[in-house]
Amino acid sequence: MLKKLWLKIQKWQQLPPTQRGIVIIALPVCCLLSTVGVLIWLSASIADYEGWVRHTQRVQLEGRELLNHLIDAETGVRGYHLTQQVGFLEPYYTAAAQLPSTLENLEALISDNPHQLAHFQDLKSAVKETFQLLAQQLEEGLNPSLAEAEQRLYFYQQLEQAKQAMDRSRAAINAFMSEEDRLLVDRQQQLEALRQTNTVVLLLAVVVGLGSSGLAIHWFRQLYQEVNLRGQRLEVACDRLARFTANASHQLRAPIAAILSHVQVGLLLARQAPEQSLLRLEKVATLAKSMGQLVNDLLFLARYEGVSPPDFATSFDLVPLIEEVVQEWQETSAAGHHFHLEVPPVPLMIKGDCEMLKQVVFNLLTNADRYTPKGGTITLQLNQQGTSAVINVSDTGMGISEAALPHIFDYFYRDERVRQQGISGSGLGLAIVRQIVHLHRGTVTVHSQENQGSTFTVKLPLAP
Ligand code: ADP
Repeated sequence: MLKKLWLKIQKWQQLPPTQRGIVIIALPVCCLLSTVGVLIWLSASIADYEGWVRHTQRVQLEGRELLNHLIDAETGVRGYHLTQQVGFLEPYYTAAAQLPSTLENLEALISDNPHQLAHFQDLKSAVKETFQLLAQQLEEGLNPSLAEAEQRLYFYQQLEQAKQAMDRSRAAINAFMSEEDRLLVDRQQQLEALRQTNTVVLLLAVVVGLGSSGLAIHWFRQLYQEVNLRGQRLEVACDRLARFTANASHQLRAPIAAILSHVQVGLLLARQAPEQSLLRLEKVATLAKSMGQLVNDLLFLARYEGVSPPDFATSFDLVPLIEEVVQEWQETSAAGHHFHLEVPPVPLMIKGDCEMLKQVVFNLLTNADRYTPKGGTITLQLNQQGTSAVINVSDTGMGISEAALPHIFDYFYRDERVRQQGISGSGLGLAIVRQIVHLHRGTVTVHSQENQGSTFTVKLPLAP
């Protein structure tokens, strides 16, 4: 699981900066847009449900109004019957006048609900029936032809009829209102649920928004640092290139100029002093040879530049290799130095290219020889440190200035003091050393103090 996540993160870092930039911008923008979209939808739904709740409350209001009309009418008519005073009929007349508009309003309000429309029709006919009965009773009034006892019975019958009609109407209104109550509770519950969802979405949006913004800021800072680093690397590479061009042109022009001058002088002296002319030709040959070496070195460096370390198949012992190189070097080196060689009594097996590694040791010894005045001491030590073989080449020579130290492994770099003292060299020896050591997954470091000496340390992994 963690491995998969790590692989995905690695893939993310491998994406080009433009693609990562787009993702960094798109992430919070998408979060924001989707949150706004969901919130708009929720707000619209809430507004919709609020409308429905208000609608139901209006229906209930009209229903209560209707019930009030009914009660007013019935009590008014009853009061009149009991007292025979016309003043009691006022609420009845008001209710009868308002009844049609109340029924109309109610019908309009529930016209979209077929279930309630059926209830309403029951209610309407019951209420109308009640009002008709009341009107009829009023019209008929008391029957003076009846005896008192019969009149009272007739009166009670009328009251009983009115009460029954009222009960029917009440039952119809109650059925209608309880459906509205149920609807109101339903709609209020849905409204509450939507409001809660709204709050949850808002909280989630805040959490996701903060998270995605944090991630975007983190990725942005990563990208910014990476771009900065690339810029710095580019600057360093440009500096190197500028130095390389200046140094290379100097290293290439100098022998060409020398060859040209020797050839010209040689041509002039060809007749008068042929032996001198021959000397010049020999110098031309030496210069051409060193130029050839220079071109070979450059080709070697170009061939392995940026190449990742290969898996070498052959392994060999470093001890005899070093002894062989030392012998070769001693044959070519100018005498006058004290030399010490320290190698372990056990083999140190390395996987690699033995010719290349010979070149490393040879270049380091040649430099020590070249930059150490006569009488100085050169020491070569080979030993084992953990899983590495360590080669130390130290001398008691002129050392390297602090300003020159960071550049000595650059192509064609040569310390100013070296140039001024006219010490020969191409400035490619250490670049080749570094490249070969890297090809063998090793490291090369240097410690040096001006006029005290230098120590070059090469660390190579031992064969498993
Ligand atoms: P070259 O020796 O041909 O000039 P290198 O690449 O081998 O080129 O060395 C680069 C520079 O590093 C030299 O010009 C010299 O200034 C410095 N250098 C290398 N080795 C030594 C050393 N043992 N002592 C002092 N300076 C050194």
